[in-house]
Amino acid sequence: MAAFGTVFMPQMALATFEDDNWNDTQKVSAESIQIHPGAHVLHYSSTCFEGLKAFRHEDGGIYVFRMDKNLNRFEQSSELLNLPKIDKHQVEAMILDIVAQYADDVPRPPGSMYIRPTHVGTEASIGKAAAPSLTSMLYVLLSPVGDYFAGGAKPLRLLLDETGMRCSPHMGMIKSGGNYASALGPILKARSDVQADQILFCPNGDVQETGAANFILIDGNEIITKALDSSFLHGVTRDSILTLAADLGMTISERDISVDELLKRAAKPGVEAALSGTAAVLTPVGTFIHNDKEHQVGDGEAGPTTMKLRQTLNDIQWGKAEDKHNWLVKVN
Ligand SMILES: *Cc1c(COP(=O)(O)O)cnc(C)c1O
Repeated sequence: MAAFGTVFMPQMALATFEDDNWNDTQKVSAESIQIHPGAHVLHYSSTCFEGLKAFRHEDGGIYVFRMDKNLNRFEQSSELLNLPKIDKHQVEAMILDIVAQYADDVPRPPGSMYIRPTHVGTEASIGKAAAPSLTSMLYVLLSPVGDYFAGGAKPLRLLLDETGMRCSPHMGMIKSGGNYASALGPILKARSDVQADQILFCPNGDVQETGAANFILIDGNEIITKALDSSFLHGVTRDSILTLAADLGMTISERDISVDELLKRAAKPGVEAALSGTAAVLTPVGTFIHNDKEHQVGDGEAGPTTMKLRQTLNDIQWGKAEDKHNWLVKVN
């Protein structure tokens, strides 16, 4: 099986913004794009993206999950980066149209079609370090993906980092390329130094998120996760899991968690921790590494509540449970 995100559908939907206007959507080859070497994005990182999925149901229907949430976040990211304002209706049509074109290629569960809308500043002006790009390109790329947990859901090892930051705090809620480049150095160091899978960024002891996923703690009937603020990415999966947990009668606590509280709670039997994101849904966390000490979370294994929440979400996405919240949009 090819690595996640390395296989692409041959065509994509593309639109450009010029002269204060979005041009009509085109279908183009997904092999290459043409931009000027002086394009704003290549020098000043005017770039943002989205990640959402389309699922195949038993009856052959293809459904996109929570597209409205992703469109809103895409609009917000573009706005916060001073990219041209996106036309949500056009982008929605681009997504539905290109997914419909490749409906036959949408893998069956546990696979799916990963959808990657991308928006970049294209103005050829290396003098605009402190000015926005007046032109841009927006495309919707498709990548069929398999079972993220093909090798089994092995609980992750997270390094708790209280001194570093994933990205600049005012950039946290923007799904923007530079943020991942910013977090990469510390993550590679954590991998080689302490064999961590990811860093859980906890600036000044405030538990935030990892490089590309939100963090949740489960203690009995309670789910605890950081309340939304501009310092971290507002995950659609996070929101979905909290909604489903509330449906199941769990108590949702959206508030700050300190590293001290996290380590105290993690030592209790039955406590679970997990990362949430579109790619992996919910991934169990088995170990925290903090000041050279290892702290097992609960019994260090994937917890039953984590697995139950993941299954509950997958059942809706895969058409095996009722879509009570109207999260699915039919494509074909
Ligand atoms: C995409 C992303 C998430 C998860 O968001 P979802 O909408 O659930 O996929 C969390 N944190 C970061 C930094 C991300 O880039």
